[in-house]
Formats: sequence, structure tokens, C-alpha cells
Amino acid sequence: MRIAMISEHASPLAVLGEEDAGGQNTHVAELAAALAAEGHEVRVYTRRDSPTLPETVGAAEGYEVVHVPAGPARRVPKDELLPFMGEFGSWLAGRWRDGDWTPDVAHAHFWMSGLATLHAGRRTGVPMVLTYHALGTVKRRHQGANDTSPAGRIGYERALGRAADRVIVQCQDEIGELVRMGVPRSRMTLVPSGVNQEMFRPDGPAAPRDPARPRILTVGRLVERKGFQEVVRALPAVPDAECVLVGGPPADRLPAEPFAQRLRALAKACGVADRVRLVGAVPREEMGRWYRSADVLVAAPWYEPFGLTPLEGMACGVPVIGTNVGGIADTVVNGLTGDLVPPRDPRALGTAIRRLLADKLRRFAYATAALDRIRSSYSWKRAAEQLGTVYAAVSAVGRPTPAVA
Ligand code: UDP
Repeated sequence: MRIAMISEHASPLAVLGEEDAGGQNTHVAELAAALAAEGHEVRVYTRRDSPTLPETVGAAEGYEVVHVPAGPARRVPKDELLPFMGEFGSWLAGRWRDGDWTPDVAHAHFWMSGLATLHAGRRTGVPMVLTYHALGTVKRRHQGANDTSPAGRIGYERALGRAADRVIVQCQDEIGELVRMGVPRSRMTLVPSGVNQEMFRPDGPAAPRDPARPRILTVGRLVERKGFQEVVRALPAVPDAECVLVGGPPADRLPAEPFAQRLRALAKACGVADRVRLVGAVPREEMGRWYRSADVLVAAPWYEPFGLTPLEGMACGVPVIGTNVGGIADTVVNGLTGDLVPPRDPRALGTAIRRLLADKLRRFAYATAALDRIRSSYSWKRAAEQLGTVYAAVSAVGRPTPAVA
């Protein structure tokens, strides 16, 4: 099949760890590669955010990335991209209608891509599959006045859920949210993300570490909702352990980063400054080295639409302590592949970390069960096969004659 993937702000070619570059970029890159490996023709459409980018780049994994001119050719925060989605959709429609490549199906990632894709699909008859990745209702609930999403987000998300030919959900929690928003359950198919088991595996080199000091690793963009503050607050309850935080801007820009400064100040106030180490952004290929260097991976977000880092840690044979939210509540089986604790609760987190670090046997049992779970349920091949079935179903239904632009 010819499959278009639309990921307006998250290019599969981006460097990860910075504010708007994380799980969605990885997800789109891995999924595109897995679909290409299944024999599909895949093009990923993302916004051109630099004047030097060529229109089309062939990725080594067998898919193409197309840089769509919509809005200024420079980085624009994702919450400011809405005004350019009409332009994005019109450009897609033009290409799909008049160019030499018309997809059988378009899979939109994130609500804004959904708007552009719907616009193009209505003009060309290309059916739309939508993955939200994150929901405005959840963000609003947790971030309140700090939520910088465009005002109409929740309404657009509801409308998109009804207009899409199929909605791909990533976890049980997301199903509940969408049902409460009025998206029919019958339109949803649950296909969790996979994890790259070549890149993330238990054997392989590990980043250097002090063997005398247990290592707690935590990974993610330096944003408040990732819960790094709670990890720092939990540290006084875990004597001797060091906490390594991977993510954020590259190491040279880290000292000036406001959130990194806040974390350092907090670590000082908690009396653990000498045990907290901020590493900055690490290239994706090197992430496995960091996971393998750890005794435990802590993923403590306040909420998490899916959460790739716990899966990556599990695939590297590292026991995970996660907060009982979003996708983590599905991927980590409490007491079997890891521990789940309530979000925003440094006391519970500290107790769980101290207990696990003191129990080598439990760590081994969790790591072994986690690896089993990854191998049986979280390959990208499985995700690509399931999605291939969805794409075939929606493109077989066909569309009425498309409306003229
Ligand atoms: N990541 C990375 N380098 C970093 C920090 C993160 O490659 O310095 C990757 C990480 O391995 C994972 C993704 O970024 O694949 C983060 O995804 P997750 O779902 O955990 O969080 P999100 O960023 O989507 O909120």
C-alpha cells in the first residue's frame, strides 16, 4: 500500500530530547521503518522548519520524508503552528491530486496533523487514520493555566475523532478519555507503540558508572510534567544512590536552561546536589548505553499519553518504577515487571526506589519478566501488521467523489 504519515511538528529525522522533540518523533520514525519493512511505500510529511532542508529526503530505513512548506521555514513552537495547518493541508491536497503519488491512506499524528490531513482528505478522497499521541483534555486538567495549547484544541480533537475513518489509541486510559469526549468506541483500535529491540537490548556496552553507587536513571524532555522534581525530592529517602537525568538541550546549553536551573536549586535544597547529574540530550543510538548503566529506571510523569522510555528500559533489561498513569499503567505490570506508584508522590516513590535497590532478586525477576513482555507484545513489526490491517480496511471502504477544492 501507499501510506502517507503526517507529523506536522515531529520529524522522524529530528534530534531528540529538546522541548518539542520526543516520543512522537521516535514513534513516527520506527513505525515508518516497520511499515517499509513490511513492503509498504511510506512517505512522512512534516513541516519544513529550516530553509536548507531539501524537499524530500530518503531515510536509510526505506521510507521518504517530505518537508512541507507551511508557515515560516524556521522552528516554531508547536503550540503556535495551528494557523499554518490550512496551508499544510492544501499543499498535501495539491500533491495528492496532481502529483505522481497518491496515498491509499493517510495516518495523521497529533491533532494538528489531523486538521491538515482532514483538509487534504476531503479534497482527494484519501481516508484518514488518526493517532492523537496526547489529548488537550488531559493537558488542561494537569497544567491548568500553564497549558499553552491553542484555545480550540479540545473541540477540534472531539470533531477529529468523529471525522476520522479510524482512531488509533495507545492505551486503556486514552480509550476512557475519548469515550468521555464523545468519540465512539467503535471507531477506535488499540495499537500500542513498539520498541526497537535491536537498539534497546540487554546485552551491549553501558555508560561508565561508579560501581559503589546504585544508579537511578530518569529520561525525558525537561518539562515539569515529566516529574523530575519528584525524583529529586525522593532522593533523600534513598541514601547513597546517584540520580542521572538524560534529556533536555545538549550539554553545553544545559547550564542556561531555566528548568535545569530549577532542578539544581531543588537538589541543593533537598541536600542531594552531589547525587544528581544532568547529562543533557543524548543521541538516540546512545540511549541503550545509558539504560544499561542503570540499576533502576524511574519514569515519574504526572501524566503520560504513552511513554516510550519505560518500554526502552524494559527492553534493556532494567527494572522500571513508574507512576500509575496513562500508557505506563498498561506497559508496567505492577509487582511483576516493575512497580507502579501514584503520581506526584515523592514519599511513595522514595519508598519504592529504596525497596527495589535493596532487593537484587526482585530486580532480576522484574527485568526478566519485563523482557518477556517486550518480546511478546511490543515489537514494531506487530504494530505495523496491526496497522496494515486497519489501513486496508479503511481504504477498502472507499469514499464518495471528493469535493472540489
Ligand atoms: N530521547 C532521546 N534522547 C534524549 C532524551 C530522550 O533519544 O536525550 C528519546 C527516548 O529514548 C524516547 C523519546 O525520546 O524514545 C521520549 O519519548 P517518551 O514517550 O518517553 O516521552 P515524550 O517526549 O513523548 O513525552
